Amino acid sequence: MSIAPALREATARLSATSDTARLDAELLMAHALGLSRTDMLLRQRELAVPATFAALLARRLNGEPIAYISGTRDFWTISLTVTPDVLIPRPDSETLVEAAVDHFAARAPTSILDLGTGSGALLLAALSEWPTAQGLGIDASPGALAVAQGNAARLGLATRAQFRLGDWGQGVDGPFDLLLINPPYIARDAALAGDVLREPGRALFAGTEGLDDYRRIIPDLPRLIAPGGMAAIEIGHDQRVAITALLEGVGLAVRPLCDLAGLDRCLVATR
Ligand code: GLN
Repeated sequence: MSIAPALREATARLSATSDTARLDAELLMAHALGLSRTDMLLRQRELAVPATFAALLARRLNGEPIAYISGTRDFWTISLTVTPDVLIPRPDSETLVEAAVDHFAARAPTSILDLGTGSGALLLAALSEWPTAQGLGIDASPGALAVAQGNAARLGLATRAQFRLGDWGQGVDGPFDLLLINPPYIARDAALAGDVLREPGRALFAGTEGLDDYRRIIPDLPRLIAPGGMAAIEIGHDQRVAITALLEGVGLAVRPLCDLAGLDRCLVATR
């Protein structure tokens, strides 16, 4: 079969379970061909559908996220390997990197701490932004740390990125110019559906209100944020008031930022 009808047929089948059926079909086809999506689309007349496409489509129809099937996801300016050991980096989390870029417009941060680093997305995006900075990524999952370490190596950032198994900021020696923090923040009983159910629950769920991990992280922040530094903290769209109160309760100043959809997504905390 040639590419165009195969994409049409796959899109029709995927639209029953995916909001992004056409894009999914294109990404799977590109992955099966070992091409970028753009190259696949440009060259589709001369290409045939590879035998592996059917199996990739079956996995997607079965609910597996595209990023786990292709094993990669772009975030900010970098491309990351992702596995089911890590949360798939979201475009909304780029809000945290943007906040840091704004804050450090005049001088570069020299030290960066990423709490709950997962794939390493936030730390590695920041390290590629500031070529002289050193970074530390903490995670409670050995599987996630292995993914992050692999990403640092592939991106040529391994000499500037350290990764360590840990429990948020506990036992971490600070301070750091820049902290990037995307903890789990979904309430335990939230009714989730779709792709997110394939992602690691420990990266998503945090107690009855989704606040448990913030309560563990925030008491350490005053000693971990350097004077003139900042923490960019991802939050759920309905958590601004509660988490602002926790941050102000330890004496930090707080500024909220919205994501691409205009929802509360990030709090910038400074001393
Ligand atoms: N924004 C993610 C989601 O809604 C949750 C990420 C998190 O808990 N840190 O799927």
